Amino acid sequence: MHPSRSSDRHPSPQEIAAALAPALGASRLRLSEPLAPYTTFRIGGPADVLYDATTAGELASAITAARGAGVPVFVLGLGANILVGDLGFRGLVVRNAAREVSDLGGGRVRAESGVLVADLIRHCVAGGWAGLEHYVGIPSTVGGAVWQNLHFLSPAPERARTMFIEEVVESVELLGADGSRSRATRAEMHFGYDVSRLHTSGEVALAVTFALAAGDPATLHRTMQENLSWRGSRHPWLEYHPSAGSVFKKIEGVGAGRLIDQCGLKGHRIGGAQISHIHANIMVNLGGATAADVRALIGLAQRAVSQRFDQFLEPEIGFVGEFAEESAQGTVSS
Ligand SMILES: Cc1cc2nc3c(=O)[nH]c(=O)nc-3n(C[C@H](O)[C@H](O)[C@H](O)COP(=O)(O)OP(=O)(O)OC[C@H]3O[C@@H](n4cnc5c(N)ncnc54)[C@H](O)[C@@H]3O)c2cc1C
Repeated sequence: MHPSRSSDRHPSPQEIAAALAPALGASRLRLSEPLAPYTTFRIGGPADVLYDATTAGELASAITAARGAGVPVFVLGLGANILVGDLGFRGLVVRNAAREVSDLGGGRVRAESGVLVADLIRHCVAGGWAGLEHYVGIPSTVGGAVWQNLHFLSPAPERARTMFIEEVVESVELLGADGSRSRATRAEMHFGYDVSRLHTSGEVALAVTFALAAGDPATLHRTMQENLSWRGSRHPWLEYHPSAGSVFKKIEGVGAGRLIDQCGLKGHRIGGAQISHIHANIMVNLGGATAADVRALIGLAQRAVSQRFDQFLEPEIGFVGEFAEESAQGTVSS
């Protein structure tokens, strides 16, 4: 099925499922599945077809099958860094639940890309291995973590620098845009702040090998507790106030949140979306927020900061799928 070649009409979920069923199994495909429950924002319309990949092999097969059939495909981790449009996603969403962890010895750990960072931290800390504990409390799969180069501050009390997950990445197993398999070293991943080569290469991370150092369990647990406490006092709680973390990219030396705060926008609300009272770079879903509400709030913050400080707030979160027409008051972009 190559819809763009044959006609302008989108294939129906049933047609997409029929094209993918031989490779993925009809019983494994869910049609018109709402995506909101699979995101930390709890926002987003339906995927035409949703498939849970439970191994790295299934993840690769699903991507390959969709590409072979000309079906647009999106890899979903924990949905912690995306806003899904109210109209949902036309094509196949592959939910990455490939969760195998293997100890390779000497602090080297291989994790399939759907492993939850929380589970991996628990595993490594129990084994006395240091390097991942800094990222405790951040919702992420291993795949999402390498996509965006997960980061947090170095331990208290100094909190001297930003630490990045790349520091403990040894290599990443990749499925290429052409279907080939390869392994990239840390240097070859082109990690940066909020970025890796995955943003532009069309590759999918299948598994990551981490190289960790032996750590003192008491120190690891202390770091975890201090970091969880730091987060708890500065970020809205996901259980009550769903969000996607920081909405805008860091502005070096200034702070996107600080600029929004200085515009008096903390607590500002559009529909069910609100700029958090406790962190101006985080928008929360007060219940029933739509993607249109969030995008309107993003545009409002951008215009206010642009007018007052002549700075552009660039969204950090990814926009996925189709968004309803918005009132053309300006900006957003991805
Ligand atoms: C409350 C809260 C706090 C946060 N705090 C932090 C923080 O302190 N530091 C920080 O860095 N981030 C933070 N974030 C952002 C978020 O946690 C990270 O960006 C995280 O890595 C997203 O992972 P995910 O699995 O949810 O990815 P998703 O949101 O599901 O996907 C994000 C992107 O990654 C792509 N992707 C996912 N898996 C793969 C794969 N296997 N191969 C290729 N591409 C893939 C997706 O296609 C998508 O484009 C926070 C978010 C929240 C909600």
